[in-house]
Amino acid sequence: MRPNRRELLSGMAGVSVSRALSLQGSGERGPVMVGSANALAGMKLTFEALVAGGEPLDAAIETVKVVEKDPNDQSVGLGGLPNEDGAVALDAACMHGPTHNSGAVAAIENILHPSEVARLVMERTDHCLIVGRGAYEFARMHGHPHTELLTEASRERWLRWKEGLSDVDDRLAPPPSNPNEGERHGSTPPLDGKRTAQGPGWDRPYGTIHCSVRSTRGEVACTTTTSGLAFKIPGRVGDSPIIGAGLYCDQEAGSAGSTGRGEAAILANGSFAIVELMRQGKAPLDAGMELLRRIERQVQRQARWQPALLDGDGKPAFSVKFYILGLDGAQAGVSLRGGGKYAVADAAGGPRHEELEALME
Ligand code: ASP
Repeated sequence: MRPNRRELLSGMAGVSVSRALSLQGSGERGPVMVGSANALAGMKLTFEALVAGGEPLDAAIETVKVVEKDPNDQSVGLGGLPNEDGAVALDAACMHGPTHNSGAVAAIENILHPSEVARLVMERTDHCLIVGRGAYEFARMHGHPHTELLTEASRERWLRWKEGLSDVDDRLAPPPSNPNEGERHGSTPPLDGKRTAQGPGWDRPYGTIHCSVRSTRGEVACTTTTSGLAFKIPGRVGDSPIIGAGLYCDQEAGSAGSTGRGEAAILANGSFAIVELMRQGKAPLDAGMELLRRIERQVQRQARWQPALLDGDGKPAFSVKFYILGLDGAQAGVSLRGGGKYAVADAAGGPRHEELEALME
């Protein structure tokens, strides 16, 4: 249901409303932000500066930093769920339309704001991606402090997962977390709204934050940052820091980014593909749905050697989501499987959640 004018204005608390509304009738374009549902808290803090003429990459990175430093979000930054070895290893990237440049870090540990380090890679080196120990040293060189990112809650969840893995090792199963839970080996509790089944009985939490932005000058930029797949093989890197997979923007066509099963976004080169479809004239929603149908066909082929990728009905057993922004300010959020919310902020409605368009319920 579309909000009425009063609701629109109250939803823009803190935003210069007269400035936002005046943009609608001026030659300047209204600014727009689109991203994963967990980007909303950050958008509420950054949208005002964007309305006032702020840079799109500043807005995108300041938005995701809110979640990077939130210990209660176990999908990104501080408090992110660790890899198999209990180390929180982060991936992040950013891209800037006006200069068609990008930067990224992957498998970086003990640095609170990998999105800022990705920007430093873009602005202070001739490279697009720095990984592992080199990324950590690079961040330290630029003044980022060494930070312990594993919170007690994430450590306990990791330990519980590790103890529940096998009946044939020497670790005893974790004690039941409530008196009614009697199984010896319980599965890892899901992250709310983030669980992705990759096959019968195999539930693995995913989680990430993406933010794409168009400024009042029509400039686009984006960023994606994550702790990646929980309990991943050390060194595993998903789509988030891969330009074209977890994010992409082009000043001639628009911006897109993803969350969910990173391997699907990599194999489809999903964000790049969506931006290319917009370049060919498709609206954001149509571009996103076409890409999801393509991924569904690709998964059917992958399932020849990895049958657990399909559910009992022969459909993809996981989800991947894309957040899409056209140069004209049109936006969409699409999901391969299951609905949910995504975050949007624009001059018409301020920061808010909207419903994802799902290919499969
Ligand atoms: N796409 C991320 C990855 O595969 C995880 C996620 O979005 O949940 O690392």
